[in-house]
Parts: sequence; C-alpha cells; structure tokens
Amino acid sequence: MSGTIRIPATAPEPVNSYAPGTSARTELKAALKEMSGQRADIPLVIGGQELRTGDVRSIAAPHDHGLDLGVWHAGGAAEALRAIEETRDARREWASWRWEERATVFLKAAELLATKWRPVLNAATMLGQSKTAFQAEIDAACELIDFYRWGVHFAETIYDQQPESGRGEWNRLDFRPLEGFVYAVSPFNFTAIGGNLAGLPALMGCGVLWKPSSNALLSSYFTYKLLEEAGLPPGVVNFVPGHPAEITQAALSHPEFAGLHFTGSTEVFQSLWTTVGREIGSYRSYPRLVGETGGKDFIVAHPSADPDALRTAIVRGAFEYQGQKCSAASRAYVPESIWREMREPLAAETDGLPMGDPADFRNFVNAVIDGHAFRKIAGYIDRAAASPDAEIVAGGTYSDSDGWFIRPTIVRAKTPAYESMCDEIFGPVISIYVYPDDAWAETLEIVDSTSPYGLTGAVFAQDRSAVREAMDRLRYAAGNFYVNDKPTGAVVAHQPFGGGRASGTNDKAGSAFNLLRWVTPRTIKESFVPAVDYRYPFMAER
Ligand code: NAD
Repeated sequence: MSGTIRIPATAPEPVNSYAPGTSARTELKAALKEMSGQRADIPLVIGGQELRTGDVRSIAAPHDHGLDLGVWHAGGAAEALRAIEETRDARREWASWRWEERATVFLKAAELLATKWRPVLNAATMLGQSKTAFQAEIDAACELIDFYRWGVHFAETIYDQQPESGRGEWNRLDFRPLEGFVYAVSPFNFTAIGGNLAGLPALMGCGVLWKPSSNALLSSYFTYKLLEEAGLPPGVVNFVPGHPAEITQAALSHPEFAGLHFTGSTEVFQSLWTTVGREIGSYRSYPRLVGETGGKDFIVAHPSADPDALRTAIVRGAFEYQGQKCSAASRAYVPESIWREMREPLAAETDGLPMGDPADFRNFVNAVIDGHAFRKIAGYIDRAAASPDAEIVAGGTYSDSDGWFIRPTIVRAKTPAYESMCDEIFGPVISIYVYPDDAWAETLEIVDSTSPYGLTGAVFAQDRSAVREAMDRLRYAAGNFYVNDKPTGAVVAHQPFGGGRASGTNDKAGSAFNLLRWVTPRTIKESFVPAVDYRYPFMAER
C-alpha cells in the first residue's frame, strides 16, 4: 500500500452515567448476572496457545466470600521462558508491519471495547476488583479506550519526528522497536493499566511478556481476549499470570530483556531495579526501566479555600474505589478556621457513604482487595484509635464477615509526622492535620518534606497568590498537581500521569513520552552522489 496515511481524529471516550432507565445500565446488570453465575477457567496464553498448568488458584470477589468466580492457572519460570521464545518469533513479523497496520489492531480494540466488550470488561472489573459501575466505567472502558486511541495518535507524532536534510543527502529516523522483549507487570487496581502496560509497547512493535496481578485476573484475561479479537497476532503479547518472583527471575536474567513496564508498589519496583542492576552485564542492550509506583497524595487547603469544594474533594479523592488509587488523597492539611466549620459536615458525609456489593448500584464504596490489604489497613485504624497522637473523626470500623469491608475513615493527626500522615496505606483512610491559619508557609514545607513520594497533590485556595506560592513551593512534591480539584481522575491526553521521587520514573502514561521508551531510533543518512576522492581542497599546494 502506498500513501501518506492519516489516522482517524481522536476524542476522549464519553463516560456512561448508568443512571436508571439507560440501556447501558440494563446491559451491565445483565453482564454482572451472567458472570456471577459462571465459573471461569483462565489459562495462560503463550504464542496464542492456551496453557493450563493445573496449578490453580481461585478468583475471589473481594466483597463476597461466597461468590465463586472460578479459577486461574499459575505459571512459573518455564512458562515465562516459553513466552520469551514466542515473542522472539512473533516480533520479527510484527515489527515488519507498517505502523498503521499495527495501529489498526488497537483502534479496533478501542472500538470493540466501546461497544460489545464494554459490559464484559466493566462487569469483570466490578466483580473481581470490587468497583462501582462508575469506577469500572472510567477505568476498564474509558481509560483503556483512550490509551489505545490516543496511543495511536502519540505514535504518529513520534514517527513524524524526522531530521533535516542538507543538499545531496536524505536523513531519516527509523523508530525501531526495542531489540528484545518488554516485561509488563501490572497492579490490581486499574484494568486499564494492565491493557496499557502490555499494549502500548506492542503498538510500537515490541514483543511482550505480560504478568498480570493475581488480584485482577478476570479483567486482565478479558483484556487479552479483546486484543486477540482485534487481530493482535499470536505471540506478540503473551499472557502469563503466576508466581511473581519466578517469572520475574526468568525475565530479568534473560539476555533479550529489553524493557520493564511496571506499575505497582515502590518496594517491588525497587527490587526489580536492583535485579536489573545486578544482571546489567548480561543483557544485549541497556533495558528501559519504566515504573509508576506508590504515592502519599495530599490536599493542602489555604484559609481562603471554599469549604464545600474542599469537603467534596476529600470525600471523592480519598474514598472512591476505597482509596485504592495510587493518586488517592491520603493526607490533608486544613487551617483551623476551616476545620471548625467543616469537621461535622465532613464526618457526617463520610459516615453516611453507602457501602456494599458493587452489583447494588446505590453503593459508593465497596470492599478492599484482599485479606492482606484488609489487615494492613485495619492495623493503621487500630493504632490510630489507641494513639494519643491521633483521633478517629469518622469511620474506624471494619468487618470481614461477608467481604473485606472497611468503613471510610478520617484520622485527625495531632502531629504532622504521625504514621498515617507518612505511609502509603492504600485503603479508605485519610489523615488530616489541622494547622494554625498563620502557618501557611511552614505547612507547605511540611507537605513537601513529609513523604518520600511525589505523585499527586492538590491545593485549595481562592487567593491567587497562595496558589502561586503552593505551585512554586511544591514543584517537586507532585508529578500531577491540581488547583481546586481532587488529586485523582487523570484523563489520558488531558493530564498525562506519573510522579517523581519514590513514585516512579515519571514517564507519563497516556502521553508520547511513554511511547518513546519502547523505540530505539536508527538514523539513516543517504548520500545521493558520494565523494570519489579522499583529498580535500585545503590539501592542494595552491
Ligand atoms: P504490587 O507491587 O503488590 O504488585 C504489582 C505487580 O507486581 C503485581 O503484578 C504483582 O504480582 C507483582 N509483584 C509482586 N511482588 C513481586 C515480586 N517480588 N517480584 C516481581 N513481581 C512482583 O502492587 P499492587 O498491590 O498490585 O498495586 C498497588 C500499588 O501500585 C500501590 O503502591 C499503588 O500506589 C501503585 N500504583 C501506582 C500507580 C501509578 O501510576 N503511580 C498506578 C496504580 C497503582
């Protein structure tokens, strides 16, 4: 095919409301019912072949211990090595496709997800990861659609970057996919992240070994099936759930390891980086390391802040998806004058948040992901209840009798260094430090220095000079900074996402910066009439 190809125009995927009476709600309820009544049997998929190892684990519904969603098969080092072999063969063919042919797969996947796959991926996310219909919609449907559509747009902007050429020469850049495979390791909390981590390096021509989170198997598997239906050739992305340490060991000690696309905790990313450092002499090329990790995201309010806007940002920012967003507001700094006004309404609103099964659309919060998370979060709540340095203002209770349920909790910390002001808890707990109104500058200093992370943060103020001061003083405290808005809910292409410091390499998911990491450009210079004599004019006698 010849021609300068233009990709279709891109716009953010509209968010369905799932309000009563809408057809989207009817379809989603039907999908939930059907999926709840089935038992999945999820295999590994290597080179397009399903593989059932027999080492099975159950797929739990965090909100309902009695709901059996089926099983998944776990792989280990042998399966990881087989998958790496498959990427080698598949990549040779896939990387030779014109880029717009690769793009068709992702544009088709986006369209399939916007239509017939939408209720499937949303229902899988609601049941397997315990999300409300709205939280599933903005993740599994809209964000993943946007990652694929905008990913194609960003790829085009990268391929468009071509060098200047002088007279008699033509200079070109060939954006080669990485020479080796990309190891994609995804977290439980966003379906879209798994699809992005595995999908976008593939869009740029790479072969991928994808290890999804054991706590997001249902939605991850359907994401893989979506790509398969969209025409992704076998072996380009290999779906290998299983033992994290074994799979990682096989991947990171392989000479063809060329890139890590990771999202998850800071601790795991640092352990992977350490392994890469140890193995660095054994790789064919220097691997690209992209990791988006933890956060201790803040809201800092100035005495000029609008108390209603602040209260709403705290409730939505801290408690949507049970605070299990890397961007969730988990510490807030509120001046005394506003705290006096807002304490009661904030506590009442928090205590009134409806909690329960995501299939009951009246609920705002559901369960936390598993028993390990439940116990960790409950520990923070118990210690706060017993500490002279903390006070529980709302919530503070939990129950694991039906599912892993923790009431949205507000801790008032009497010292800004109290543990829950500093640690990533990753649950429905926000800690608030109340500061004297005249201590704004000192408070900004505390916000900046309290945690090792630098992911998201928000300032609430109506006084413009206070906004400017916060923007300046907190320049490195957050890679995604919000003014009079909650620190969650980044939209692909609108708020490229990622943080610095201990929060990651800040390669900005949902932007061209990320895609650049999956190519290794080759510069080609062609001379049309090459020199035929080595001597230069300056060498002549006269
Ligand atoms: P996690 O670190 O426990 O797991 C992430 C992935 O790493 C999973 O696939 C897991 O199986 C794998 N893993 C775990 N131990 C491993 C090991 N020893 N070796 C190799 N792989 C291993 O994280 P999680 O609980 O799934 O997700 C929550 C974390 O992710 C939070 O810290 C959150 O802040 C972070 N997160 C960050 C972003 C971001 O964009 N910055 C987005 C989402 C989540």
